[in-house]
Amino acid sequence: MSDQDTIPDEPISRIALRGLMGRCPACGDGPLFARYLTPIATCEACGEPLGHIRADDGPAWLTILVIGPMLVPVVFALIMWSALPVWISMAILFTLGIALVLLVLPRVKGLFIALLWTGKIKDITAPPD
Ligand SMILES: [Zn+2]
Repeated sequence: MSDQDTIPDEPISRIALRGLMGRCPACGDGPLFARYLTPIATCEACGEPLGHIRADDGPAWLTILVIGPMLVPVVFALIMWSALPVWISMAILFTLGIALVLLVLPRVKGLFIALLWTGKIKDITAPPD
């Protein structure tokens, strides 16, 4: 049985939203992660195997692409208009950057796993058929 046999006929936007919310892409009820970024082996609600889906570096790459442009205006604001000492500006940027990564990375990883689960994007780490 291929993965395509088990994928329900649902809009990809709904499946992607489930991944963004950290829920099982198949049912939306069970959690997608056992810990912060560790995918669960099988869904607790529907039994869908999810542990074999590897997102690899994709989520980290997309997180950088999302967060980088968000931090640029903050950097300019701190440099151009604030009278704060440099070390305080750097502390603000560091704290904001870490907080954004901790917030965005699991959502992006959930999105990647959900899209890989649909088979709509190819897992380049999977062995050829
Ligand atoms: Zn499920």
